[in-house]
Amino acid sequence: MEKIKMTTPIVEMDGDEMTRILWKMIKDELILPFVDLKTEYYDLGLPNRDKTEDKVTLDSALATKKYGVAVKCATITPNVQRMTEYNLHQMWKSPNGTIRATLDGTVFRTPIVIPSIKPSVKFWKKPITIARHAYGDVYRDTEMVIEEPGTVKLVYDSESGKHEESVIFNFTGPGVVQGLYNIDKSIRAFADSCFNYAIDSRMSLWFATKDTISKKYDGRFKAIFQEEYEAKFKDKFEELGIEYFYTLIDDAVARVMRSEGGFIWACKNYDGDVMSDMLSSAFGSLAMMKSVLVSPDGNYEYEAAHGTVTRHYYKYLKGEETSTNPVATIFAWSGAFRKRGEKDNLPELVKYADDLEAACYDTLGEGICTKDLGHLMEGVEPKVMNSADFLHAIREHLEKRLGC
Ligand code: NAP
Ligand code: MG
Repeated sequence: MEKIKMTTPIVEMDGDEMTRILWKMIKDELILPFVDLKTEYYDLGLPNRDKTEDKVTLDSALATKKYGVAVKCATITPNVQRMTEYNLHQMWKSPNGTIRATLDGTVFRTPIVIPSIKPSVKFWKKPITIARHAYGDVYRDTEMVIEEPGTVKLVYDSESGKHEESVIFNFTGPGVVQGLYNIDKSIRAFADSCFNYAIDSRMSLWFATKDTISKKYDGRFKAIFQEEYEAKFKDKFEELGIEYFYTLIDDAVARVMRSEGGFIWACKNYDGDVMSDMLSSAFGSLAMMKSVLVSPDGNYEYEAAHGTVTRHYYKYLKGEETSTNPVATIFAWSGAFRKRGEKDNLPELVKYADDLEAACYDTLGEGICTKDLGHLMEGVEPKVMNSADFLHAIREHLEKRLGC
């Protein structure tokens, strides 16, 4: 078979530990034999981030802005223990944080659903994609412990000399207080990313806040979403037959539980933090959750939602076999190939992406899986394999689908 051609490179961000090992196995087994792979390679492994004083991370993010499509392996976010383990010069920031800030993007997480793993919510038939606004609110708050009676106020002094203040509370005894903020620019970018992603994936978009209680703060989020929808996206939504649906957060939670799935749920920062953990555990396994960062101007960075699977890596280093699940990382690659194929008008590359995902479904459909999925499967006899054998089984299905 002649290898599938690419015209523009994908930005390839290599990573750390077990996922770095899987990364190479996936390329060798499932990509390089079939695709004339063009990537611009950035080594985001922690040793190289340290060596380049983290410049490589910023460079990879800028390359994503240039080329529009990236695929990323999981990376270590350094902490105190990693400082000694890797003898680091500095506690470098989270690469995902740097990339997200550079692209001003929103992260969309979607479970990979297979028939033999039933979600714990029996109504769910299709995946629910969650989009979390990753800026401001409680994550950048200012807090104060109040020890004795007194007045706490909200004060605003504008640069032009305007002064506004209002009393938050007259404390008669000890208590606590918290100040939050957000900015229109970030909310608008979040809204645009969500509407664009909905159009892209042809799914309806839900958004919810608590604007009945928080009339100005949450009200601002609601208003900006509505403005953006009407100004830029309404016609396209109607043409595609998808819906923009706003409701209160408590109503949204109730409706999500009774829904069949198959939509995007946009959440404010805190709601998204909480609800994404609920959805991923209710759908089955963190190892089966994919993730894509979408910028408001249409750049895409694909990855798995899980981390570097450190525990498995330490076993691997001892020479032990591991059964680490590569599916979400494979889907990161297929997502990037599909998007690259769409942007460059390469139907063969899009088909390869579809076939690669289908090969994973075929394999899992036969009960062939890694250890994390074995005990979750119903209706098929699970055949648990190590990562290498599992990838080989996927390759056999891929070859059948590609006709080679
Ligand atoms: P993790 O790597 O996601 O792993 C947590 C546990 O979940 C594993 O020990 C394993 O459970 C299970 N698991 C996750 N992915 C799996 C897979 N593909 N196959 C099988 N089992 C899987 O999270 P962590 O251990 O908290 O973090 C490890 C490192 O990853 C940290 O340095 C963190 O900074 C980094 N991280 C990176 C990203 C990213 O780059 N996007 C995201 C999260 C974390 P068992 O051990 O029980 O088998
Ligand atoms: Mg969380």
